[in-house]
Amino acid sequence: MMAFDYESLIASIPDYPEPGVVFKDITPLLADPEGFNALVNDLADRFSDKGVTKVVGAEARGFMVGAPVAFKLGAGFVPARKPGKLPREVRSQEYALEYGTNSLEMHVDALVPGDKVLLIDDLAATGGTAIAQVKLVEAAGAEVVGMGFLLELAFLDPRGVISQATDAEIHSLV
Ligand code: IMP
Repeated sequence: MMAFDYESLIASIPDYPEPGVVFKDITPLLADPEGFNALVNDLADRFSDKGVTKVVGAEARGFMVGAPVAFKLGAGFVPARKPGKLPREVRSQEYALEYGTNSLEMHVDALVPGDKVLLIDDLAATGGTAIAQVKLVEAAGAEVVGMGFLLELAFLDPRGVISQATDAEIHSLV
């Protein structure tokens, strides 16, 4: 089967959200029935042999891609959220973003030792968000078995950064 042309449905927005940043807008791809289907299937298929029990996705685009991938794999979905959004006891992890800093939180009981976790996000830039999630997963005693992105901004080398934190397989569609 021919690979789906994801790039034709990803818009590049110069100087958003601040000067010097070229923002990749994936909403045209999400809105395209064939594109959204290919995105979810391609990521799920790549990790279908890993025994994934939970998919972790970070607010907000990690939810949009991670939840359907979890459904397709027959796994659970665990949200990593911005501070103050989760109602029960959380673990918290700070990270540096391409533009600014923030932290992510996960319910302390969302993952258990023995869980095999797939991290899914729309885009890897510096890799900071991904590493924060790896730390949250490992703090729960669970294992990251893979990481899937729609887009990897290769010029920022997220792969190099992430591979210092985990041996998990990284797969990006673009
Ligand atoms: P990182 O932590 O620097 O790898 O940034 C990745 C995170 O920031 C992901 O959760 C993305 O959703 C978000 N992000 C950074 N740059 C962009 C962009 O150009 N388009 C969409 N999301 C972005």
